[in-house]
Amino acid sequence: MSRIIRGFDRSLRFRFIFAQTKEIVEEARIIHQTSTTATAAIGRLLTQAVIMGTELKGDKDSLTLTLQGNGPAGKLIAVADSHHHVKGYLEHPEIEIPSREDHKLDVGAFIGHQGVLSVVRDYGLKEPYQAKSPIVSGEIAEDFAYYYANSEQIPTFLVLGVLVDTDYSVKAAGGLLIQAMPGVKDEEFSDLEECVHNLPGFSNLLADLSMEDILSRYFAKMDFEVLAEDGASYHCDCSEEKVRRALKSIGNDELKSLQEENENTEVVCEFCNTKYSYTKEDLQIFMEERGTKE
Ligand SMILES: [Zn+2]
Repeated sequence: MSRIIRGFDRSLRFRFIFAQTKEIVEEARIIHQTSTTATAAIGRLLTQAVIMGTELKGDKDSLTLTLQGNGPAGKLIAVADSHHHVKGYLEHPEIEIPSREDHKLDVGAFIGHQGVLSVVRDYGLKEPYQAKSPIVSGEIAEDFAYYYANSEQIPTFLVLGVLVDTDYSVKAAGGLLIQAMPGVKDEEFSDLEECVHNLPGFSNLLADLSMEDILSRYFAKMDFEVLAEDGASYHCDCSEEKVRRALKSIGNDELKSLQEENENTEVVCEFCNTKYSYTKEDLQIFMEERGTKE
């Protein structure tokens, strides 16, 4: 199972959230049949959703992250709940693009170097809270670091990594967020950044070391303390009941044309590929049930 560790350095100047998400990203790869670059892209976004999802408290709270760049990937979505469940969707999982000159997967070109990142927090109130921020590189970690710095005014170090094996399965995946606590001086944050930028590739560390060992490297100059540890998983909350409710909500005219056009109306969940099938008689019942309510 994937893991999330949260804590602080002992002087309480920085907090960290560290997620190991290999199993989550592998599940997304299998569900969406992603190309290698698409695996890295949706894997990074799902990992960010796991990290940000730790702020959710209420049973039904949810967080939705969306990337809409000008690259071939189209739209990417990741949704997290307060139980450390995530699910994701991408418009063009099949598209592959050439790697960069340094042989790294070119997630930036796949997403596109321009576009919009959006963060929607739904706390069950009338209106969900929405924030938008520009995509600055399409590499995802940089885009969210920019979002934290500008929209939330929190100096943030963020690294997201997915390592794809030669058989296309996910060898390692994870993310580490380190944020300065209020009152921390810019120089102190720069010191930390300088130290962490000199570390070898994050995805390679994930493949070779335990989470605790990786943290010891990132916090080489200070002690850290783990305060919470949780499991995380890919989980879709779709159900026949929800699909039925959604179908009924499209109106009798739409239901009528679905009924006329299809022997069986099939609805496929875009997050987990579960198929829900309805006969002409089922649709007839939905229309009658709607009729009695109106
Ligand atoms: Zn589903």
